[in-house]
Amino acid sequence: MDGTVGLFIMTISFGIPFKTDGDGGPLYFSVPFSVPRKGIIQHFLWQITLFTWNVRDCIDKFKKMICITGRGGAMKLMLDPGHGGHDPGAVAHGLREKDLTLDIAQRIRHMLEAEYEGVEVRLTRESDTDVSLSQRARMANQWGADFFLSIHVNAGGGTGWESYRFPSVPARTVTYQDIIHAEVIREVQVTDRGKKTANFVVLRETAMPALLTENLFIDNAQDAARLKDAAFREKLARGHVAGLAKAFGLKRKEAPVVPGPFPDVPSSHWAAEAIQVVKDAGLMTGREDGSFGPNEPVTRAQMAVILAALLKKIYG
Ligand SMILES: [Zn+2]
Repeated sequence: MDGTVGLFIMTISFGIPFKTDGDGGPLYFSVPFSVPRKGIIQHFLWQITLFTWNVRDCIDKFKKMICITGRGGAMKLMLDPGHGGHDPGAVAHGLREKDLTLDIAQRIRHMLEAEYEGVEVRLTRESDTDVSLSQRARMANQWGADFFLSIHVNAGGGTGWESYRFPSVPARTVTYQDIIHAEVIREVQVTDRGKKTANFVVLRETAMPALLTENLFIDNAQDAARLKDAAFREKLARGHVAGLAKAFGLKRKEAPVVPGPFPDVPSSHWAAEAIQVVKDAGLMTGREDGSFGPNEPVTRAQMAVILAALLKKIYG
């Protein structure tokens, strides 16, 4: 330990702890109270530099922390299905936490990719494999994720849903927790166990805003019955997705334009379905120019032709 490191450690003991990415080292930096106001910024940068030994990396992190720059490109979400491999997590009622967390995370990814644009999703594990807690955080840090969302299932007596963030975090992390928590509760309508804080490894070692959700209790018979139901797990995913979309202002994909039965009968026309049916059945055809003329009156002769075609269909 040399003099500079010693000085650094001394300053943090007087400072306000913030969560940051220590690249495997300690996870706090601070603005010492003793530094004159005009010198704070330089001191701030200098401290982070000491930590990361990489000026460019440090400046990027600094920009991110104080939100100087808007987010360019896609929002990067690192989803973390809890446990896996040799670690099944909590086990009860024929369910294993590691299977449920992977299922819910995959549903979240599928929904986001299918319904929203400008969002990139990665999982810390894609299958039933061992990934250490620090490794999960490192994956998100190295990718430069904008948000880390860890999915778990509770155990130990209780019922309902709760969320966790790290105790000392930037205000926006608290906002993200508020929004996502509210959306999940609204969607699943279970007991709200509250917005909590905890010194969990994946929350502590991630460099970006991070949240961990505990999705019901595997050892509670009623909760377990819900977790066994794929429709309920879909609801859990839907709640997380609604929260993420709201928190990060994700844009919905434009609905694909479904062509109607005729150029002048779009799929949005009130009778499009009926017109498609009679067209497919060969009872009515388009006009010579290919249009249908949905608002044109039918003559008695045309009606007779249509009815005759129908009778022929029925009686041969
Ligand atoms: Zn867990």
